[in-house]
Amino acid sequence: LNGIVTDNVELPDTTQTLKNIQSVIDLEALNQSMWWSFIEKASSYYFYPLGEVLQQALPKVIRGSLPLNALRPKAFARTLAEANVRGIKQIEALELLEDGPKTSAQFRSRGISSSVINRLVELALIEETDIDDYWPANLLDETPPEPNDEQQHAIELITHADEFKVTALNGVTGSGKTEVYLRAIEASLSKQRQVLILVPEISLTPQTLQRFQSRFNVEMAVLHSARADKEKAIDWVAAHDGRAKIVIGTRSAILCSMPNLGLIIVDEEHDGSYKQQDTFRYCARDLAVLRGQIHNCPVVLGSATLSLETLHNIDTGRYQRCDLNHRATGAKLPTVEVIDTRSKTKDTGFTHEALEALAETVANNRQAMVFLNRRGYSPTLMCDQCGWIADCPLCYRHLTVHQRHRLLRCHPCDHQQNLLYSCPSCHSQQITRIGEGTERCEDRLTELFPNVPIIRVDRDTANSSNKLNQQLEKIESSDAAIIVGTQMLAKGHHFARLDCVVVLDLDAGLHSADFRGAERTGQLLTQVIGRAGRESEGKVLLQTAVPDHPLLQPLLINDYERFSQLLIEERSRLKLPPFSASLLIRVNHPFENEVNTLLRQLRQYVDRQNIHGIQVFGPMPAPHEFRGGRCHGQLFITHPDRKTLRFIAANLDQALRSVRQKSGLRASIDIDPRDMN
Ligand code: ADP
Ligand code: ZN
Ligand code: ZN
Repeated sequence: LNGIVTDNVELPDTTQTLKNIQSVIDLEALNQSMWWSFIEKASSYYFYPLGEVLQQALPKVIRGSLPLNALRPKAFARTLAEANVRGIKQIEALELLEDGPKTSAQFRSRGISSSVINRLVELALIEETDIDDYWPANLLDETPPEPNDEQQHAIELITHADEFKVTALNGVTGSGKTEVYLRAIEASLSKQRQVLILVPEISLTPQTLQRFQSRFNVEMAVLHSARADKEKAIDWVAAHDGRAKIVIGTRSAILCSMPNLGLIIVDEEHDGSYKQQDTFRYCARDLAVLRGQIHNCPVVLGSATLSLETLHNIDTGRYQRCDLNHRATGAKLPTVEVIDTRSKTKDTGFTHEALEALAETVANNRQAMVFLNRRGYSPTLMCDQCGWIADCPLCYRHLTVHQRHRLLRCHPCDHQQNLLYSCPSCHSQQITRIGEGTERCEDRLTELFPNVPIIRVDRDTANSSNKLNQQLEKIESSDAAIIVGTQMLAKGHHFARLDCVVVLDLDAGLHSADFRGAERTGQLLTQVIGRAGRESEGKVLLQTAVPDHPLLQPLLINDYERFSQLLIEERSRLKLPPFSASLLIRVNHPFENEVNTLLRQLRQYVDRQNIHGIQVFGPMPAPHEFRGGRCHGQLFITHPDRKTLRFIAANLDQALRSVRQKSGLRASIDIDPRDMN
């Protein structure tokens, strides 16, 4: 078992419980008081043990067996010897060293191999040196576009003070938020302070990463789960040493040690992926604000669809707001047309109007996108004779047909089995695939448009950043094309030739049992609409069976503002977040009555305290009650005052600690839950 020394204390009686240390992995202290105080605060805010927070904060390789120093690259500096070389790469390498020592990684990123470096060492023209923290004289690697007035205003608001302040950057899709970030980063770098950028899922938006990398001539650390452990640890140490001037990463990058942090940017701040849904259930967006306070530096929360939490913080004066209302390319936001599906027949999910719009778009040699947030071939497999439906044996939910792989898969729990061709119940061969997923749409479109590339992008065709890049390149290099995609495509992508978007079915989200369901749906729809017409006249067709739904109306005219206002009124009336602080207790056990007994006890315990203003919902079953052979139940608690809720949480946390020891019960506490699953 590896441990981390955090303090030096006298223990009254150490003989009975403590064991000897076997070996010391690293004597170098991770000595950064601001980072440490951040980690401690994060641990206490989420009622999650400090040791386990550190587990998440430190890359695997560092927690494991390697000392920090083993993760520092070698660096090389110019010697005094006079250069007399002819190799182009050798000359390049020497030129690169003119403004200071460079690491092997920096050489590599310029296409200079280690053999070139070794040769120069042999020639005594360069020598190994300590890597030091240096700032290049010229920060920029490319010439940036001139910001427009709105962007300029935003840049000034963000950069004019040097202290903690949260700016909510509300910019419509395509308004050039990234350019604002880049300028703010430049300002921070020019003050010789590091920058941390959080993005929802890097592997989904390789272009974003690339834009940051090509702008600046500084070392960057890239932290996300798709990277190899060792590489990630090397980058982590670079950030910790202050050598990496820019750290860009997904959720967990917020936990990274940075000595000299001067700016934090959270892109797409509304995105659900910032909240970790298991173990340490933190929200990186919220921690970014805490971290900005500790480092006393500005924080930017950007989105085209700001979360209700952030909008509420603007309303109460805690965050300053800044708007980008126009697309940077000058293009207008697309118009949205509703197709009422109630009285219409559909072909594989498509109405006649939708197919016509697709045909027209490709006839004009432009691209169209079909948005369907359901992967696989069809969501249900049913027997025509006896009504049997293929369900997951572990969680009793319908299995999705994946025709290409001849599999039945359960999306929530990842269970999979071979596709069936006859009914296991009555042995009939007449079993039907009901409903459509992206695979089926792709097949039908291929039949209907044999001469047009149909490019499907979902977790099945793009489950690695390599494969995703291939699909994106296909889109980039095609003229007319139809893209079929899930929410993977809604985020951040900029498709220059995309004129038309068809949204097949988002209705379920509007009726979701989760009180955040409508918010998520509105954000998703706004983001999807935002993919169209980035550099032209765009058009969106929305198929729906509830065309008069009041929440839909503002979204149809690109008025996310009004949409969020409606939701805010509702949340305020119901005293739900952001008008209250909330927590969710989750309990699971193989037996339902064990779960309910514990939840009832917890509820009684809370009720007995008789706290004014508290709302307790439950015990209630989790949305997917039976999963992995266990029954899941929960208790949802809100209170208008965060301090009071913390007091309750602390008590419940104590109570749960003793329960966790008990046989078979698993229980956790989720502060500011996002998803009720
Ligand atoms: P957002 O992130 O707000 O959706 P992007 O940052 O992707 O928008 O910008 C959309 C497009 O506008 C990009 O192609 C970008 O290069 C371009 N752009 C951004 N700022 C400017 C500017 N000031 N002048 C011209 N083009 C710009
Ligand atoms: Zn049957
Ligand atoms: Zn399942």
